[in-house]
Amino acid sequence: MLLRRGLRAFSCPLSSFQCRTINSWNFSRSLGVENVLSQFKSICGEDRVSVGQAVREQHGRDESMHRCCAPDAVVFPHCVEEVSALAKLCHLYNVPMIPFGTGTGLEGGVGALEGGVCFSLRNMDKILDLHMEDFDVTVEPGVTRKTLNTYLRDTGLWFPVDPGADASLCGMAATSASGTNAVRYGTMRENVLNLEVVLADGTIIHTAGKGRRPRKTAAGYNLTNLFVGSEGTLGIITKTTLRLYGIPEAMVSAVCTFPSVQTAVDSTVQILQAGVPIARIEFLDEVMMDACNRYSSLSYPVNPTLFLEFHGSEGSLEEQVKTTEAITQSNDGSNFQWAQDAETRNRLWAARHNAWYAAQALRPGCKAYSTDVCVPLSQLPQIIVETKEDLIKNNLTGPIAGHVGDGNFHCLMVVDPNDKDELHRLHAFTDRLARRALALDGTCTGEHGVGLGKRSLLQEELGCHTIHLMQSLKYTLDPKNLMNPGKVLLPFSRESRQG
Ligand SMILES: Cc1cc2nc3c(=O)[nH]c(=O)nc-3n(C[C@H](O)[C@H](O)[C@H](O)COP(=O)(O)OP(=O)(O)OC[C@H]3O[C@@H](n4cnc5c(N)ncnc54)[C@H](O)[C@@H]3O)c2cc1C
Repeated sequence: MLLRRGLRAFSCPLSSFQCRTINSWNFSRSLGVENVLSQFKSICGEDRVSVGQAVREQHGRDESMHRCCAPDAVVFPHCVEEVSALAKLCHLYNVPMIPFGTGTGLEGGVGALEGGVCFSLRNMDKILDLHMEDFDVTVEPGVTRKTLNTYLRDTGLWFPVDPGADASLCGMAATSASGTNAVRYGTMRENVLNLEVVLADGTIIHTAGKGRRPRKTAAGYNLTNLFVGSEGTLGIITKTTLRLYGIPEAMVSAVCTFPSVQTAVDSTVQILQAGVPIARIEFLDEVMMDACNRYSSLSYPVNPTLFLEFHGSEGSLEEQVKTTEAITQSNDGSNFQWAQDAETRNRLWAARHNAWYAAQALRPGCKAYSTDVCVPLSQLPQIIVETKEDLIKNNLTGPIAGHVGDGNFHCLMVVDPNDKDELHRLHAFTDRLARRALALDGTCTGEHGVGLGKRSLLQEELGCHTIHLMQSLKYTLDPKNLMNPGKVLLPFSRESRQG
C-alpha cells in the first residue's frame, strides 16, 4: 500500500505533486499530530522534540536570501538508532524529513517547503575512531570542522577542507563543500572515505561497507560520492569517515597586487603549470580589496590581488616561493608582502574568510547573496572581465573573491531586499552569469550546491538524459519523495522520469 501511494505521488502533475505530501502530512494530522509527536517523543525523549515557533523558524532558514520555510516540528536525535526509528515513523506517515547541520548553507537547502520534520543533528557530536597512523577519522554529524581541528591539534594532523563558515562535517559532505585549500587538498568529494546514511525508510547503510576505510577502492559503484553533494535529498548522513593530513612543517603566506584580472589569473595558471604545490591561491578584485581593507582595518593597495599560501618543509618552501615570485613579477605583480609568522598569516586569512561580512558592510541594512560558478582555468579571465562589465552596466554591487586555482569565483552580491527593481536585476544577472559559465564548459555551482535556486540551471547543465537518471536514482532511494523534497531536482512525474 505504501508503495502504491509512492507511485501515485510520482505520477501527479506539479500542483497535485506538491499537494500530495502536504495531504499526506495532513493525513497524519488527521490521525492526530499529537499521536505522531508522542511517538517521536517516545523515541528520543520529551525535551528533544520541539514545535515551538522560534525553534522551528531557526531551523527553516540558512544563511541565504531564501525566505524561511519552517518545519512543523524539530527533532534532536542522539544516535543513529534514533534517527532510523524516527525516519521509519516519518516513512509510515508520509512526513517529509529535512536534515539540518549548522544552517550555514547558501542555497536555501534547509527550508521545509512542504512542512515536515527537521532532523537537527547537533547533539550527535562525537569524534569517533581516530586512526592517526592511517590518517583518517570518523565523526558524527554534529561535529564541525573547527571542532575537529581543535581536537586534532596535538596529533600533528588536520582536516583541510575549509568553507568560510564553521560548518558541520556531514553538512559539508551533503553539499560537497570546499574552500580555500581545495587547490592542494581537494574538496569533500576527494576526502570522504565512507558514510553512514539513514535512508528514507529508516534503513541504515554504509556507502563503502561498515567500518571500511581504505585510502582507495575499486569495489563496485561509488555510492559514497552519490551521497556527497546530495543535499539531504537521498538520506540523512549520520557518520562520515574523512582523510586527514599531516600539519605541514612550515607555511608561508603572501599577498601580491596586479594591474589587471588577466595578469593575476595568468600568474595563477603559470604557477600551477610550473608544478608549484600551492596550498591556497585566492583572487580578490579591487572592489573586494577595498571592502576587506575597510572591514578588517588593513591597508592593501586597491587592485586585483592574489592571496597565496605555501605548505611544506623549510627547504621546499624556499623553492616554491622563489618560483612563484619570479612568475608573478613576469606578470607585472608588485607590492609583495610575505608572511611567515602565524599571527600575520592568520590576520591575512581572517581578512579573506571575512570577505562575506566585509561585502555586506559595504551597504549596511542590505542582504548578501553569493554566486559560485566554476569554469576551466583558461576561461577565468574572460568570465571575470565580462562579469565585472555586467555588474557595472546593471548598477549592482558585487565584489569578487575567487578560489582561482580551481577556476571557481564568487560575486558577493549585496542587495536591498525591499528594492524590487534591484532584486529583478540581481536575478537576471545571476542567471546570465551561470549561463556564461555553462557556455564556457563550466558549472553553475562549484561548491554551494543546487538547493532551490539552481534547479533549472542544473537541467541546462546536465541535459535531459542525465537528469532522468538522477530522477530514477532519487525515485529508487526515496519513492515517496520524503527526503528534503523540492531541492536539487525540479518536481517530476514518474512518466517524465521514464522519458
Ligand atoms: C560566510 C560563509 C562562507 C562560506 N564559504 C563557503 C566556501 O568557501 N565553500 C563552500 O563550499 N561553502 C561555503 N559556505 C556555505 C556552507 O558553509 C556550506 O555549504 C556547508 O557545507 C554547509 O554545512 P552546514 O552544516 O551548515 O549545512 P546546512 O546549512 O545545515 O545544510 C545544507 C544542506 O545539507 C543538508 N544536510 C545538512 N546536514 C546533513 C546531513 N547530516 N545529512 C544529509 N544532509 C544534510 C541540508 O538538508 C541542506 O540541504 C559558506 C557559508 C558562509 C555563511
